[in-house]
Amino acid sequence: MRWKETDYSGWGRAIVSRGRIARPEKLRDLMQVMAETPAPAFGNRRSYGDAAQNTGGSAIDMTRMNRFLGFDPETGILEAEAGVTILDIMRNFAPRGWFPAVMPGTGFATLGGCIGNDVHGKNHHIDGSFGAYVDSIELLKPDGTRLRVGPKRNKALFNATVGGLGQTGVILSARIRLAPCASAAMQVRERRIDTLGEFIEAFDASDAQYSVGWIDATATGNQLGRGILEEAEISETPVASPIKRSTSIPFDAPSILLSPLVVRLFNQAYRSRVPASGRDIVRPMQTFFFPLDRVHEWNRLYGKSGFHQFQCVIPPTDAEPVLRQMLTLIAASGRASPLAVLKRLGPQGGGLLSFPHEGFTLAVDIRNRGNVADLFRKLEQLCLSAGGRVYAAKDSLGSAEAFSASYPNLPAFRKIADQVDPGRDLETDLVRRLEIRGRK
Ligand SMILES: Cc1cc2nc3c(=O)[nH]c(=O)nc-3n(C[C@H](O)[C@H](O)[C@H](O)COP(=O)(O)OP(=O)(O)OC[C@H]3O[C@@H](n4cnc5c(N)ncnc54)[C@H](O)[C@@H]3O)c2cc1C
Repeated sequence: MRWKETDYSGWGRAIVSRGRIARPEKLRDLMQVMAETPAPAFGNRRSYGDAAQNTGGSAIDMTRMNRFLGFDPETGILEAEAGVTILDIMRNFAPRGWFPAVMPGTGFATLGGCIGNDVHGKNHHIDGSFGAYVDSIELLKPDGTRLRVGPKRNKALFNATVGGLGQTGVILSARIRLAPCASAAMQVRERRIDTLGEFIEAFDASDAQYSVGWIDATATGNQLGRGILEEAEISETPVASPIKRSTSIPFDAPSILLSPLVVRLFNQAYRSRVPASGRDIVRPMQTFFFPLDRVHEWNRLYGKSGFHQFQCVIPPTDAEPVLRQMLTLIAASGRASPLAVLKRLGPQGGGLLSFPHEGFTLAVDIRNRGNVADLFRKLEQLCLSAGGRVYAAKDSLGSAEAFSASYPNLPAFRKIADQVDPGRDLETDLVRRLEIRGRK
């Protein structure tokens, strides 16, 4: 098996690593690689920061191990290798009446990555996170042994693996429960929202299975928090229109493209595309769940220095004042991008380091320019003092102190990870930066 020395980064492209990467296609090759050099596994590196990076070390790219292994059309239980993407699953099984019960905002996330970050979707408030639909996982430990874990078998190791950032072994494959769907389309209601308070009330009042808010993060004063709320259900009627082909950004965009003025104007125009009275539309699932995937490599719009994302969850009681302070800071920084999202989250699942808990989650992309770290520190502090936490899948600038203060199961997680990986061969840049395995 060949290793390739290369430069690589996460989706935000703000932190670049140099290291060796192997891309096994078969289990035999992977076992050989792990026997030579036990190393952390990555998927499509759709995490924004350094979760899927190992500077100066080795890493295993799992994307070629992407075969479906078995499917039961009666129960919707699918077994697949870890490199299969969420989009592969949706495309193959939605026409047969089954689709992933939880999907993140990109179809490029792999099964291994969805487990490693215990991803959440637009239905977390109703259906929980990805781990709730995983029946079992086959793990390859750094000592070369294979082990099946699940909610009923090796439960402690299962709970450390769901949201465990790859620290308990390489996920080889998993058995997941798909959800039934009447069609591969969504019935969507879109409406304008004028203020942050109105947003929070609308989320609380909504009984839609799927809901997501786009926020104009450049708006200030009495327009702060304005945006568009999308509420959706699976459509009973299939869509007739074919899915539009995707385009791509073949170059690093010039800085003028995301200047504060351009972003402000874009945001105004984007909000106005929804009529004041709202609208009801039927959309293909793919367009509803993965709107950004239609533009390949859209991350290059931020230019060579890339961008960071700040995503946190704030408990419901303090959500409005805290989010107001955050949005005020972000708007004043002049660095906000057109991409800011607000979602309602439900209760925490079983994953020891899973991000989602009851409350509101705000995610904002911020250009990597000037003193971004200072802005992130202030946002992190606000989040922490409100009893919230930051999402590791999106993080590149968070602190070890904030992580340990906001993830109460960290000591239990460390114990399990250290038993499986005593040599810390599976550590990544993010795990070292946030001291998730403790200091050496
Ligand atoms: C446009 C966009 C929208 C997004 N929207 C959402 C969203 O709505 N909700 C959400 O929760 N997330 C969202 N994300 C984040 C994304 O879903 C997660 O970062 C996901 O983990 C990416 O999957 P990946 O396969 O690229 O994993 P990677 O980024 O490559 O890896 C993620 C983690 O999983 C571990 N891992 C990956 N594969 C394996 C394996 N086989 N064995 C062991 N460990 C492994 C890695 O070590 C790493 O710690 C979004 C990302 C993008 C780019």
